[in-house]
Amino acid sequence: MSEQEKRVVGDNDVVSLEYTLTVDGEVVDSSEGHGPIEYIQGQGHIIPGLEKEVYGMAVGESKEVVVSPAEGYGEENPEAFVEVPKSEFPPEIPLEVGTPLQLRDQQGQVFDATIAEVKENTVLLNFNHPLAGKTLTFQIKVVGVRAATEEELAHGHVHHH
Ligand code: ZN
Repeated sequence: MSEQEKRVVGDNDVVSLEYTLTVDGEVVDSSEGHGPIEYIQGQGHIIPGLEKEVYGMAVGESKEVVVSPAEGYGEENPEAFVEVPKSEFPPEIPLEVGTPLQLRDQQGQVFDATIAEVKENTVLLNFNHPLAGKTLTFQIKVVGVRAATEEELAHGHVHHH
């Protein structure tokens, strides 16, 4: 086996990762459509429960990783639900459970929310991340690993050449 083949993932490596994310038995995201993700290992660019499992993996290796909510997108915060009068919604927005919304506050900051419940005169909005409180099952495969360049480390992202 050559040195190249024995190369395993460590800090400050650029990792190319194929993945399929399954939540509650349903595939919610996969690299199949858009190609593998590329990120710098050890910089917290991917969720902690996944990143720690990639250390030591070699190119071509695959595994299943189960990530608890605490190491994924966090537990669902019961205080991140807000009731808003129906009259505040523009008519073109369908007021149905599960509808994703983007709301802007007075400072112009954008928040993602999902309609959690439609009541008689109000709508209950959930500002939690859609995957908060969920156990995440990843099927991952390392398809590339190389040392990040100094420039990439300084910028904190991967450069494509
Ligand atoms: Zn850059």
